[in-house]
Amino acid sequence: MPTTSTTDVVLREMGLRDGLQSIATFMPTAAKCAWISAEAAAGVREIEVTSFVPPKLLPQFADAEAVVAHALTVPGLTVAALIPNLRGAERGLALGVHKLNYVLSVSETHNMSNVRRSTQESVDDFRRIVAAVRAAPNRPRLCAGLATSFGCTFEGAIDEDRVRRIAVELAEAGADELALADTVGYGDPAAVRRLFAAVKRDVGDLPVGAHFHDTRGVGVANVMAALEVGVRAFDASLAGLGGCPFAPGATGNIVMEDTAFLCETLGYDTGVDIAALAKIRAILAENLPGTQLLGNVAKSGLPKHFVPARLRARREAAE
Ligand code: ZN
Repeated sequence: MPTTSTTDVVLREMGLRDGLQSIATFMPTAAKCAWISAEAAAGVREIEVTSFVPPKLLPQFADAEAVVAHALTVPGLTVAALIPNLRGAERGLALGVHKLNYVLSVSETHNMSNVRRSTQESVDDFRRIVAAVRAAPNRPRLCAGLATSFGCTFEGAIDEDRVRRIAVELAEAGADELALADTVGYGDPAAVRRLFAAVKRDVGDLPVGAHFHDTRGVGVANVMAALEVGVRAFDASLAGLGGCPFAPGATGNIVMEDTAFLCETLGYDTGVDIAALAKIRAILAENLPGTQLLGNVAKSGLPKHFVPARLRARREAAE
């Protein structure tokens, strides 16, 4: 696994999984591989490259093995994959993925429609995954994601104490990190500030990342709120690709280019070259005809006076 980068904020590309899972058009394997290589070259250190759901359920990921094999050849890249269950974890372990992203839904209804079992059964499954991961010769990192932490299209509001309880349970079960996910874009900056602060207090040193969808236009405002309470890892997707096949009306992840821009202007070094990132959208445009590509920075370009946080810090130090 690559060494931890020195970036202040880690942006994790989700488009190849969260984005593509909601798109019926199969993106050719070669295009996925080109996307991964280009984005790593643009400075993105971590990419969730596929999902180990059965290809019968999501044919988009029928090429998971080939995509992972390619991603593992990309220097310095942390290769992550989504796992819905123990079987998925076993596939990831066999392939040597660096990081397994397990996801359960805090909302019972959402969990049931997603993986056909109760949230508690998913927590129990996580314990079996921890045991399997710990017994593996090349132990990958294991992240536990809490989907629908900020609300659910089936259930509406989600009890914050329930989110906290499940977060603690997953932490105690042996997660290396957690992610609180606003799967359907119900989150707002006040809720983000409150819940992340509470969960971070509850789990101590365990890293807690954020997974936001920009369904109602407050995606980057939520990033800002999470930054304020010490969150330093964000899931995003190039051109805002994304959604959820089990969450009606959900739209894409927050836009990678815009999120990088916000972080850099606030002085957080993302290690990402935003102009290079914007050029990669051509791969999506070519291979996913008819798919809407979102993002304001890519459409309008960077401001003339824009200087990345890292360069600005260096200049200030030299003055
Ligand atoms: Zn998502």
